[in-house]
Amino acid sequence: MATNILVTGGAGYIGSHTCKALKAAGFTPITFDNMVYGHDWAVKWGPLVRGDILHRGELDEVFAEYKPAAVLHFAAFAYVGESVTDPEKYYRNNVAGSLSLLSAMRKAGCRHIVFSSTCATYGAPERVPLTEDHPTRPMSPYGTTKLMIEQMLKDFDAAYGMTYTALRYFNAAGADPDGEIGEDHDPETHLIPLVVAAGLGRIPQVQIFGTDYPTPDGTAVRDYIHVTDLADAHILALRRLLDGGKSATYNLGTGTGNSVREVIKAVEKVSGRPVPVVEGPRRAGDSPGLYADSGAIIRELGWTPRYMDIEAVVDTAWKWHLGHEPGKLSCKISAPR
Ligand code: UDP
Repeated sequence: MATNILVTGGAGYIGSHTCKALKAAGFTPITFDNMVYGHDWAVKWGPLVRGDILHRGELDEVFAEYKPAAVLHFAAFAYVGESVTDPEKYYRNNVAGSLSLLSAMRKAGCRHIVFSSTCATYGAPERVPLTEDHPTRPMSPYGTTKLMIEQMLKDFDAAYGMTYTALRYFNAAGADPDGEIGEDHDPETHLIPLVVAAGLGRIPQVQIFGTDYPTPDGTAVRDYIHVTDLADAHILALRRLLDGGKSATYNLGTGTGNSVREVIKAVEKVSGRPVPVVEGPRRAGDSPGLYADSGAIIRELGWTPRYMDIEAVVDTAWKWHLGHEPGKLSCKISAPR
């Protein structure tokens, strides 16, 4: 019988792509999701258990019923701007929720966890590409919650022998190349889906947040890592932990930065359509340039990202959005971050 893996937040964007990869790798993903941001249609590769990581009873039940060998922990609130205006919501859901999960894992004797962390744990970069030993000074409560969870994982490992892999994602992007699932946030604040929506005429235009950065074309640079490459990294990390590997923290990015204008050009190229653009001021808290050194996970786990080119990444996003009318997909130009 296939090994069960509990996937908190498995009905969300990165979680659902990872469930597909889990199934392909011979595991059974058990999605545990409160469905605040998750989608029923994204749960296709194993059962959906509706529940909240803050509700210990619901967690205890899912561990008792499915006896998962490990947890992949995606469940979190992830709007940076909202975390500034409503930090309580973020500390409760992300930090208290993760503590509740770790406590339920201890009780159930489940000893391995792969955690969705973020490059937002670093804060303003002192140097790029960012390596894992770069100082961590998050600039938002969101980034702080993720760093606090990383600390809990370290302490639970030291005290209870619970091993973890923390994966610090850069900018997750793109969609399942088979078109089965893709990105659908409400509200949508991320660059690529907004550029695609503008190209499709679903929103009037996309706003460039800042054209005076010290970058080659004046717009901010980010590392757009394809969601299926992220999913693959989770499988490698999971296997390593199940094989008795020790805890680790890894960056996940392509190692290449692309500017906002480059992303817009890439969407215009793959779609053959012009993208209406308006230039605006910088967004508070944004860095000029962030990209990853992912050498550690490449060397230690043999991770081999396949989407190294921004056009290939946005091509999968374009195809997904083309086939999925908004309605569910609500795009707002000045949506909260
Ligand atoms: N961005 C932009 N217009 C938008 C949304 C984002 O110019 O409508 C820029 C943003 O300032 C950043 C990059 O695009 O430089 C990626 O932003 P996103 O919100 O997708 O991810 P973040 O890097 O903030 O996590």
